[in-house]
Amino acid sequence: MTTPTTANIPAGTTSTDDSLPLIGHIIDGEEVQSESGRVFPSIDPYTRQPWAQIALGTSVEAGLAVAAARRAFDEGPWPRMSAGARRKIIHRFADLIEEHGDELAMADTRDMGKPITQSRGNDVPRTALNFRFFADHAALTPAEVLPMDSGHHTYTRFDPAGVVVAIAPWNFPMMLESWKVAPALAWGNTVVLKPAEDSPVSATIMARLALEAGIPPGVFNVVHGYGPDSVGEALTSNPDVDRITFTGESGTGRIIARAASYNLVPVSLELGGKGANVVFADADLDNAIDWSIRAIFTNTGQVCLAGSRIYVERPLVEEFVARFTAAAEAMVVGDPKDPATQIGPLSSGVHYTKVRGYFDTIADSHGTRLSGELRDGWFVTPTIIVEPDRDSAHQREEIFGPIVTITPFDSEDDVIGEVNDSPYGLNAMLFTENLTRAHRVAGALVVGTVWVNCFFIRDLRAPFGGAKASGVGREGGNFSREFFTEPKAVVMQMVPPAH
Ligand code: NAD
Repeated sequence: MTTPTTANIPAGTTSTDDSLPLIGHIIDGEEVQSESGRVFPSIDPYTRQPWAQIALGTSVEAGLAVAAARRAFDEGPWPRMSAGARRKIIHRFADLIEEHGDELAMADTRDMGKPITQSRGNDVPRTALNFRFFADHAALTPAEVLPMDSGHHTYTRFDPAGVVVAIAPWNFPMMLESWKVAPALAWGNTVVLKPAEDSPVSATIMARLALEAGIPPGVFNVVHGYGPDSVGEALTSNPDVDRITFTGESGTGRIIARAASYNLVPVSLELGGKGANVVFADADLDNAIDWSIRAIFTNTGQVCLAGSRIYVERPLVEEFVARFTAAAEAMVVGDPKDPATQIGPLSSGVHYTKVRGYFDTIADSHGTRLSGELRDGWFVTPTIIVEPDRDSAHQREEIFGPIVTITPFDSEDDVIGEVNDSPYGLNAMLFTENLTRAHRVAGALVVGTVWVNCFFIRDLRAPFGGAKASGVGREGGNFSREFFTEPKAVVMQMVPPAH
């Protein structure tokens, strides 16, 4: 867990440091500090030094933000505008995100250590795209009309659901926040976002830009703080909330599902994973190596979808391991602000301690720890474990770091069994030139997404989510529409009955 437990939530401090930027909550259109006056530091994981100070919210700010969102929903213009009018404003917001791309990217890089080429090159454009896509989707997607034999027709309205609480993790801060906030806003809801305590800054920047774009006060609120006994818990237990969308660890998902069930609030849970990556002997090996490297080492392995369990058909194992290891060794480990860096530090001291725990228990006979110049930050060396014990923690648990296992397999049935023998079911990758087999295996895997001969490619209309401990529900396209609206059937009499 990267989140502090109730017992060790930092109390923050009331003294601020003039040399560091001060990041507030955004509540009802204003950037405000906490009533307590307390702030907490955001620590740069490369320098291990504070680089910004963040307003430390409590149930007070959580309550104020929900009340503002409630007012904006019950009385304000946003839910009453046409989807087309909202679309124009949201596109302006996306323009501003692109214009402020450097600032947003550097905020995520300094908050959690993501290499700048990834935050600038991927996360900023994806964030803008999420807003553009859902604005267009809400304005342009047709709804079903059902002509009935009885002389009636039925159509579906997708009315906004109300106040949405969005709780986000730290691994793709602005991008995953936009994945929730964009459909919520596009469908006319109002939002309270709680970013992760390890990556708070970009959320405030985005909410400032939303106001500049013309999104009315109270529609998009941001409250900073921790989870248990703090802002997260106060938001998820607030009875004035209509939807909760959460991305984070499976254990936290269970706690949030309990809070949501008490108030009978629909909840969408995007949780942890242990992505399986299956390389058949007939695979295009260059392509398989290229994606397999990206699948585990992007964002230093801190990706829910990370391909952390590789299965290679036995005839290919030796060549795959040699080439995969060489490609991994060539990756540049270093300062995430340097455009040459491909692997940065882990996101925080707490997460470093967790990942180191796994690292320290790798049997010497199994692990290859790659060299790489490791600097002052929270680095662990990228590590490859060949033929892990099937029941080891490395093979079964989500580590969320640059550690990957490679397991030989002998038959299609065996590998399907191994992939499915996991508490998680978020995603899998298949590398094969045999398309019949690709379709067959894709159908047999209990996961939310299967990539064939590729990875990370997304069509935002497609369902996204996980099976088993990887989540409840799906988001994306019409799946987001179902969640962020109150679908309503309207039955119209077209032909008066004969009397
Ligand atoms: P986390 O569960 O520790 O925290 C996520 C958020 O929940 C944070 O904002 C935290 O403050 C808040 N929170 C914690 N306890 C809470 C509580 N009791 N009530 C309300 N809010 C609470 O997760 P993390 O470490 O930030 O993120 C990493 C995890 O997220 C990994 O498991 C990863 O697989 C998962 N993840 C999943 C997806 C997906 O789409 N399925 C995407 C990205 C990350």
